[in-house]
Amino acid sequence: MLSTVVTANPPGVEVVGEGEHCTDPTRDLVTKSCPRPSRCIIARSEIAYESERQQKTVASLVQEFTIEPTKLKAIKDRFVIEMRKGLARQGETLAMVQTHILGRLDGSETGTYLTLDIGGTYLRVVLVELSQGSKMITRQKKYAIDPLLKVGEPKLLFDFMASCIGSFLLANDIAIPKECPLELGFTFSFPVLQTGINSGTLIDWTKGYSCHGMVGKDPAELLRQVLLSRGLSVNVSVLMNDTVGTLLSHAYLHPRTVVGLGLGTGSNAAYIERVDRIVKRDISIYGDDAEASSKEMVINIEFGAFDNERQVLPLTMYDNKVDRKSLMIAGMYLGEITRNVLLDLIDNRFLFQGQSSRKLDKPWEFLTEYMSVIEEDVTPNLENVRRVLEDNLALGRDEMQETNVGVDVKPEGIAVEASSQIATAELSPREPTTTLSDRQIVKLVVELVGQRSARLAAAALGAILEHTMGCTWARDEVESEEGVDIGVDGSLYGFYPGFESDLVCGLEELFAQEPRMSFLCKKDKVRLGRCLDGSSVGAALGALLATRQ
Ligand code: ADP
Ligand code: MG
Repeated sequence: MLSTVVTANPPGVEVVGEGEHCTDPTRDLVTKSCPRPSRCIIARSEIAYESERQQKTVASLVQEFTIEPTKLKAIKDRFVIEMRKGLARQGETLAMVQTHILGRLDGSETGTYLTLDIGGTYLRVVLVELSQGSKMITRQKKYAIDPLLKVGEPKLLFDFMASCIGSFLLANDIAIPKECPLELGFTFSFPVLQTGINSGTLIDWTKGYSCHGMVGKDPAELLRQVLLSRGLSVNVSVLMNDTVGTLLSHAYLHPRTVVGLGLGTGSNAAYIERVDRIVKRDISIYGDDAEASSKEMVINIEFGAFDNERQVLPLTMYDNKVDRKSLMIAGMYLGEITRNVLLDLIDNRFLFQGQSSRKLDKPWEFLTEYMSVIEEDVTPNLENVRRVLEDNLALGRDEMQETNVGVDVKPEGIAVEASSQIATAELSPREPTTTLSDRQIVKLVVELVGQRSARLAAAALGAILEHTMGCTWARDEVESEEGVDIGVDGSLYGFYPGFESDLVCGLEELFAQEPRMSFLCKKDKVRLGRCLDGSSVGAALGALLATRQ
């Protein structure tokens, strides 16, 4: 369906300072069998089971975690229904948030904007200078968010945001006259019920945040207050979600972009909707159907809440342990779901001779990043799996001898050796303390959890495509020469081996044989492009659109 190309920054994009902007590999949605670049699925027949009971248990896990084609279609169909419900009424499971961002970008936009992007792991301040011809220069700095700020007083978290903006402006010698404030796009990647283009109320914290008393409050207003108290001449002109930012930033380079998809700590998507289809819209602002049919608005789906009623998702007991509300896609949960499966296998004495470790016993200690390392392992004895299990998680080892040697997973998803000195000393020949059978089963479990996530992402994206492209006007857009683009952000999509292939295979499975939708699978009609860390630039474009409206 899609072919991948990995490029550096697109032409005309200069990145100054820390961080990076959009890379732009694209894949076409075509009906070919898809390559599976770096995932190396373990041959089930090669697993050296130690008992029949163990084999049976693993087989039942395979069954539980596998989403068969008919189930995939049922999930996609349900998602389409939920999207329609969310567009009709407030308070449905899919919030289908109206962003009040209208119109599209064409790459001719210019100006200088500041953006503040707060996500699960980092806070990022970016100065974006846009010039003619889709060119941009960004200066940016990433700040790690202290875990305590995520669960404390909201005022402390927002003060931290303002202090980062203040120190960024100072470090970059940017003085802003009082009478001419710098426009700021605020990317706040949590479910927000937007009341206007630069206002809204927090529906619920996600991604491990729980600052008390914030639900129901306006994050943009809180930011304004702390900026004011620090005397910073910055105007919060747009409040938006990171997937909206992904959509806009991808659209700046690819004006045919219709969807922004986020697959990182959380999972979500935004897309362009025709305003007359937003039944719940305020008619006094957007007009009756005839008037609204000529307008387009970006909708933030907030799909993390999909199927909270549990009508269609095949939840397992391991998902329930982690988060009863999660969609089993988000990067934040995959490691923890895997950990729960492994612990269950250990408790039943099917792994590591029934011995866990202090590390594996601890919630959230099994990182989603480990899953990438495990998936990528093609060595005959699964040497990298062994290193994760024995060195990172101290399985099958005397924990008194625990060291920090192991696979050090950097946030960018590049697995590197820990300090080579210690590594050499520690990696001198040592008998493995896990068996090949242990490692094979762990790899299989990881594959099951990872592949399920990618297939569910396919069901969600498939639903969005069917909803938007299934109607004549949009179909014309796809079938036109240029086709349409989808921008995808997030480390899970960017770094998890085989995630992209599985997502694309899922889409093919949904549409290739479906007469009404198979046009999506024609060559070069729907292109998926990686837009890593695009949400900051997207917020600048949002600020620009806000000042235009
Ligand atoms: P955010 O969602 O905060 O914008 P990212 O898109 O970088 O940030 O997503 C971070 C999440 O992605 C991590 O919490 C982790 O679950 C997942 N992740 C990061 N690196 C990898 C990797 N190498 N392999 C798999 N998942 C990863
Ligand atoms: Mg992000």
